Amino acid sequence: MRAVVMHGPGDVRTEEIPDARIVEPTDAVIRVGAACICGSDLWPYRGIESLRRPTPMGHEYVGVVEQIGDHVRDIRVGDFVVGSFVASDNTCDICRAGYQSRCVRQVMMGSVGTQAEWARIPLADGTLVTVPGSPTPAQTASLLAASDVLGTGWFAAVAAEAGPGKTVAVVGDGAVGLLAILAARRLGAERVIAMSRHPDRQALARSFGATDVVEDRGEDGVAAIKELTGGYGAHSTVEAVGTQEAMTQAIGATRAGGHVGFVGVSHGVELDGLNLFLSSVHLHGGPAPVRRFLPDLIELIMKDEIDPGRVFDLTLPLEQAADGYRAMDERCATKVLLTL
Ligand SMILES: [Zn+2]
Repeated sequence: MRAVVMHGPGDVRTEEIPDARIVEPTDAVIRVGAACICGSDLWPYRGIESLRRPTPMGHEYVGVVEQIGDHVRDIRVGDFVVGSFVASDNTCDICRAGYQSRCVRQVMMGSVGTQAEWARIPLADGTLVTVPGSPTPAQTASLLAASDVLGTGWFAAVAAEAGPGKTVAVVGDGAVGLLAILAARRLGAERVIAMSRHPDRQALARSFGATDVVEDRGEDGVAAIKELTGGYGAHSTVEAVGTQEAMTQAIGATRAGGHVGFVGVSHGVELDGLNLFLSSVHLHGGPAPVRRFLPDLIELIMKDEIDPGRVFDLTLPLEQAADGYRAMDERCATKVLLTL
């Protein structure tokens, strides 16, 4: 089958690899309908994170089930399905508490690869959610967003306790940050402050419900948030980058007693204990348990109540995936959809 494989930093190729097949009786194999490139795929692309190489890429997917293992009971051949970037049994104590991304049997989909014609989905009954009806192309893009960036942005907003009467600040204007804005507004936040310097992303942020934009970063960014909130800071802050600067900014922008939801994959972040102690904020984050939110997100998408698929600003065929990685690396694109 054709699949996207990373050979080294800056070296991504669409090439032939062995077909996806059932390995465990709890697996399914899907024909991938659409896949995409993630901001986290850029860490190894930029050489900041090492990967065993060559490695098949991708962990976001929607598609149609083509084969199921002997132990699969709930998912059927022909179902149009969405899953998250972590395969989970959805039955262990951790899953039942809503933290499927840390399932005791978790399989990271990035270790399987979904930027491909077919994908093996481990723990299919726990991982996959069937979509009712036939999604339109716009709904398909939104469902693909639900697979990671929407689900992650949603968790970040929930972890930050975004809700009615709250002012939410969002650090990071990538796809996750932009969709955290959408989530915060859907959760009832009164005011959402996007921290962004890119005019095109600011426009998208406003269309997803941002009420204010702050261009300053670091201490100036914190000062700007305080100024907009009567000197208090935001009730809720989403951190969707994963760098020292972003995390420091997120904690600094949050009022005492407020909540920080952090979902940027942490790279070299170190927190000073005394500063953390004195900040008096709640910190909650980690790999987002997207599976917890998928049924609700699918319903909102299929009723056309949300349109997170607008976050994709470049669509390319799988064969041109290398161009997509380059565009995201050079920030010419926010999020790239790969068609099959
Ligand atoms: Zn589990």
